[in-house]
Amino acid sequence: MDNHDTIGEPDTARDFYNALLKTDHYDPVQLRGFQANVLVDLIAFAAQNIPFYRERLSAVVSPHGQVELERWREIPILTQTEVREHLAELRPALVPEQHGDILRFTSSGSGGRSISYYRTSLADIAQTAAQYRHFRNFKIDTSLDLAKIRAFDHALSRFRAPPNDPLKMSWTADWFNGGKGGSVRNLSVFIPREKQLDWLCGLGQVYLNTFPSNAYALARHLAQYGGNRPQIKAVISVGEPLGNHVRDAVLEQFGCPTIDIFSSAECGILACECHESGMLHLQSELGFFEILDAEDRPAEPGCWGRLVVTPLYNLAMPLVRYDTGDLVRLHQSCSCGRSHPTIDRMVGRPSNLLQMPNDDFFRPKIDRVKFGRLMGGLRWQLIQNGSSFTLRYMPTTSILKPPAEEVLSLLHEVLGADAEITLLAVPALGPSSSGKFLDVVNESKSG
Ligand SMILES: [Zn+2]
Repeated sequence: MDNHDTIGEPDTARDFYNALLKTDHYDPVQLRGFQANVLVDLIAFAAQNIPFYRERLSAVVSPHGQVELERWREIPILTQTEVREHLAELRPALVPEQHGDILRFTSSGSGGRSISYYRTSLADIAQTAAQYRHFRNFKIDTSLDLAKIRAFDHALSRFRAPPNDPLKMSWTADWFNGGKGGSVRNLSVFIPREKQLDWLCGLGQVYLNTFPSNAYALARHLAQYGGNRPQIKAVISVGEPLGNHVRDAVLEQFGCPTIDIFSSAECGILACECHESGMLHLQSELGFFEILDAEDRPAEPGCWGRLVVTPLYNLAMPLVRYDTGDLVRLHQSCSCGRSHPTIDRMVGRPSNLLQMPNDDFFRPKIDRVKFGRLMGGLRWQLIQNGSSFTLRYMPTTSILKPPAEEVLSLLHEVLGADAEITLLAVPALGPSSSGKFLDVVNESKSG
């Protein structure tokens, strides 16, 4: 399974990376041409090798195997439930040799069930190349170490042989940045915050890779209790929507920026933050993206739409018109001039956005600094259930409850004067088994 040292892979990765430096400057027509070339091959392969797709792709594949993309929008959208139910049927018996080995990824799904996804080496190389392009755009100094504070259970673990010396595992390939790859240092996100901060302080100058909720918790801990400040060059955020309050808190406490990468277990990297505008660019070289409204029509710029993606390189488990379950908002263009579709940096899911009856989704504009002060540092979570809201909080030995009247008045400002809001003390409030924590949850939309 471990093919990290296969001859040829570093060359392929470097070639891919160099290609991505060129396509970064493509105009929209060139970029669409690049995508269409790869997409046609993927569709032809899926129609021919995966019986599951034969009927589904009939609008774009002729009986002779000819692919014409004009009737693309007639291809049925693939839901997350369908993928879970037909996981085995989505895999071909064989993939062409030049796509390399098949790697397995496991993701802890909802309800603790883990799901395995498969990716070819080539699809994995494409991900790495996009990540390196992102590092280059942000002038990330990969000779520094990378501190990873994540959930190292089964979430997204990759089935590769561990390196001989785990302390010497470089976070970038030998050919990148003159081979000056710093080491990866790992710590579990379930370790108490003061211990995480101590550990970070002992590492010297590092990049920190963690969930936004954890970066925020660390910054808040420092603000509240003080202590030594770790030397963090930048926080590379993954796994959850990155709110402005996290960026602000990280900048204030660690004096560094937060850089966002938007990815998913099934599809890999979907979008990367633009180093000029701070918005996100969909990675058009890796996937064909559609943003669709409730009637499956292209969503208007500025309106929430479902992100539907066809990853271009993954022949090990082709996903054609896969509904990621994420809600995004398209922008007309980006100030950097790139042709890659630009989306708002607020990516949501119906489960972490609020929704008023007959209205669009929204993210509550809570001033988290002010609200945090009002709550006296108590951990909280705002839950919507139908038309009612509950603010859960976890009492501590020193603060039993927040000042109800003031808290309610602030929440009414955000949710409307008529909103039905209850305050509820709960014995425990913390990250899920995947290490993630969302402070806004829409329970009526949670699957
Ligand atoms: Zn841009």
